[in-house]
Amino acid sequence: MRPSAFDYHKASTLDQALALLAEFGDDGRPLAGGQSLVPMMNLRLARPRHLVDINALPLDAIEIRGDALHIGALVRHERYFTDPLIAEHFPAFLEAVHWIGHPTIRRHGTMGGSVSHADPTAELPSVCVLHDALIVAASASGERRIPATEFFLNAYVTALEPGEMVTAVEFPLPSGPTSGAFMELGERVGDFAIAGIGVVLGHDGNTITSARIVCSGARLVPVRSADVEAFLVGRTLADPGAQEAGRIFSAAIDPVGDHAASAAYRKGLIKELTRRCIAHAAGKASA
Ligand SMILES: Cc1cc2nc3c(=O)[nH]c(=O)nc-3n(C[C@H](O)[C@H](O)[C@H](O)COP(=O)(O)OP(=O)(O)OC[C@H]3O[C@@H](n4cnc5c(N)ncnc54)[C@H](O)[C@@H]3O)c2cc1C
Repeated sequence: MRPSAFDYHKASTLDQALALLAEFGDDGRPLAGGQSLVPMMNLRLARPRHLVDINALPLDAIEIRGDALHIGALVRHERYFTDPLIAEHFPAFLEAVHWIGHPTIRRHGTMGGSVSHADPTAELPSVCVLHDALIVAASASGERRIPATEFFLNAYVTALEPGEMVTAVEFPLPSGPTSGAFMELGERVGDFAIAGIGVVLGHDGNTITSARIVCSGARLVPVRSADVEAFLVGRTLADPGAQEAGRIFSAAIDPVGDHAASAAYRKGLIKELTRRCIAHAAGKASA
């Protein structure tokens, strides 16, 4: 298992990285944690002619900027476990990180790499869609912000253009009290998920005032359910209707079947994970 020949370029500034990516176009790829790109190159599923190593760039901040939490593209997954802003504002995000691979993967893998790789079962793309995050994409000709709901186009396909790279992801801060949860099931601990569910509930006392729910692994991109979200708003934390919400989400979704699980199995799994995830989020909020 050896990759096809490539040239390695280490960028020391963002401008230099963007200039190199502009020059190489489709033949160039950023190299971040290497946890997905290197295996893909070794299997010759990816054959970039030029690798632009972005690890020296100052893109590893987690900080509040305006009304959003800014997470730099090079923030490694394991950082979230100890970051107080994630714990305070984004409980579903924090729970999701526990499901990402193994310690080594979390030590090296990055936010920018995970969203750009766009694996349909990966946790962070779902977390971005769940929180209506904005993906910040930069190129030699400027910067743009892409809503996460429009960023993931297909399995391993994003709205990034050749020459663009992700520099950060911005998560809008919640405007009031929220609770959240993330659950999934894989074949073994650390494996990619068969399906996962993330939930965020905004509440005023015991009443649910806003709701967001996402499913990963069932379709080729993370899927929200406006029907489930509308169903939850106005209900109570004591009785959020988790079982009925699971039925609604499961009925609305047409999951893929693959080596890991049939479409029918995924449908049942979505129903049960939705029930448990909503009950868990509501229980935490009312505790
Ligand atoms: C055994 C194993 C198990 C894993 N399990 C899980 C799991 O359970 N859940 C999960 O979510 N992930 C899992 N991963 C993947 C892991 O989270 C990766 O770290 C992540 O998907 C990619 O991040 P990276 O920084 O390693 O990116 P890289 O591997 O360096 O890059 C991945 C892709 O993104 C591009 N890229 C990287 N950074 C940028 C950027 N800033 N802008 C634009 N393009 C960029 C690269 O060019 C490449 O195409 C697993 C990986 C392995 C090897």
